[in-house]
Amino acid sequence: MVLDNLGSSLRSSLDKLQGKSRLDEDDVEEIIKEIQRSLLSADVEVTLVMDLSASIEERATGEEPPAGTSARDHVLRIVYEELVDLVGESTDLPLESQTILLAGLQGSGKTTSAAKMAWWFSKKGLRPAVIQTDTFRPGAYDQAEQMCERAEVSFYGDPDEDDPVRIARDGLEATEDADVHIVDTAGRHALEDDLIAEIEEIESTVDPDRSLLVLDAAIGQGAEEQAREFDDAIGIGGVVVTKLDGTAKGGGALTAVNETGSSIAFLGTGETVQDIERFEPNGFISRLLG
Ligand code: GDP
Repeated sequence: MVLDNLGSSLRSSLDKLQGKSRLDEDDVEEIIKEIQRSLLSADVEVTLVMDLSASIEERATGEEPPAGTSARDHVLRIVYEELVDLVGESTDLPLESQTILLAGLQGSGKTTSAAKMAWWFSKKGLRPAVIQTDTFRPGAYDQAEQMCERAEVSFYGDPDEDDPVRIARDGLEATEDADVHIVDTAGRHALEDDLIAEIEEIESTVDPDRSLLVLDAAIGQGAEEQAREFDDAIGIGGVVVTKLDGTAKGGGALTAVNETGSSIAFLGTGETVQDIERFEPNGFISRLLG
């Protein structure tokens, strides 16, 4: 079946349909309730959950299961298709020269993700470089340098320079030999005006092919505002969800994807440079419903 690791109450509601070839209204209602419960506890935004359950309900009651398909498999297929529709396929990332800008709040995992992505591109045969423009967070320079050393990828930063725009410009020049440039930026604890002004300036200087929003999987309803502000400022073309090795399910990413009209590019699954995966809808959706 398309979904594994479903939560136990959703699974038992679905299992009650075993052997049935048609669904009655009570069956659909029970399943919808379980799905809503799972998604809300995975931090998916309320209006998204409501829209999604309305589409699932409409299809589950309106569509006849194809011949030979049980009611259970039919409804499971609908749930999966509707969620894939919402979350989308992985962000398209051509394996060619490009500049990627990372944005996000402090602690979301930008620096770690920059090094991880550089490692990922290097394994694909490209020559990446990380440019560290975070002059705000003490330790960001050393952390990025050490992680890039571990990832065996080029690194540029300047601990004596406090103008991130200048570092970005100098960094692109200094790493001319690289083909993939990953520009890490400073975050703040909250969405402050100076953060947005700074990232707008960096964006216009480096002219990235895509800007990715880095989000902690534990982010709940705050995802919407962050996604909107960064999207308005620099245009978000994809999302990186970090810390999925923890207990959070990452439902905030769906909100961000929906808000920015983008998709998920990468998942962060640990603290070391290799702990990165390309997004794939099946595993992520199973986790949301789990
Ligand atoms: P930044 O302020 O956005 O640059 O965030 P950092 O890259 O410094 O990450 C903040 C903290 O989260 C650090 O302690 C990282 O080691 C940790 N971190 C980042 N990504 C992951 C992840 O995927 N899993 C886990 N467990 N920790 C992560």
